[in-house]
Amino acid sequence: MDLASKIRSIYDYPIDGIIFRDITTLLKDGDAFKASIDAVTESFKEDIDLVVGIEARGFIIGAAVAYSLGCGFVPIRKPGKLPAKKISSEYELEYGTDSIEMHSDAIKKGQKVLIVDDLLATGGTAEASVNLVEELGGEIVGLSFLIELVDLKGREKLKGYRVKSVVEFN
Ligand code: IMP
Repeated sequence: MDLASKIRSIYDYPIDGIIFRDITTLLKDGDAFKASIDAVTESFKEDIDLVVGIEARGFIIGAAVAYSLGCGFVPIRKPGKLPAKKISSEYELEYGTDSIEMHSDAIKKGQKVLIVDDLLATGGTAEASVNLVEELGGEIVGLSFLIELVDLKGREKLKGYRVKSVVEFN
C-alpha cells in the first residue's frame, strides 16, 4: 500500500516555511493504519519487553505496536504530566531547549526496549528518549518511526542503534 499518499502535507504549519506531515488522514483509514502498524513492527519481532512511545502521536503508533507484539507500553511525556517519581532528559530545539520525562520505575535494568514515534526529524526527541531508557538500564533493541524527514539527518544522532522508518520525505 502507498502509505505516503495517505499522509496529508500542510504547508506553512506551524510556522512559515515548514511542511507539516499530518497523519490524521492515514489514521482514519483502517487499512492504512493497520498496514502502518505492521510495517513499524515488522523488523522488530524478536523478544521485546517494552515499547516506549513518545507523546503524543507516538502513543497512537506505539500502543498499537505494543499490542501487536504482545508486550508492555511505557509513555514518555512532556514535562509536568507524569504523576509519580520521574527522570527527565533535555534536548535542543532550533531556539532554546525542551525536555521529556519518564517514570523512574518504568523500565527494569536489562529489559529490551523498542522506541516508537510517528516521525523522525532532527532526532533530538529520539536521542533524549534513548537517554531516558538507558539511564534506567534498558537495552535498546531499536527505534521505529512511521515517517522520516531524511534531509534533517536525525539518524546521525542515533548512530549505533537500529533505526527503521516506513515512509521517507525530503
Ligand atoms: P525531532 O526531535 O526534530 O526529531 O522531532 C520529532 C518530533 O516532532 C516527533 O515527536 C514528532 O511528532 C514531531 N514532529 C516534527 N515534525 C513533524 C511533522 O511534520 N508532523 C508530525 N510531527 C512532527
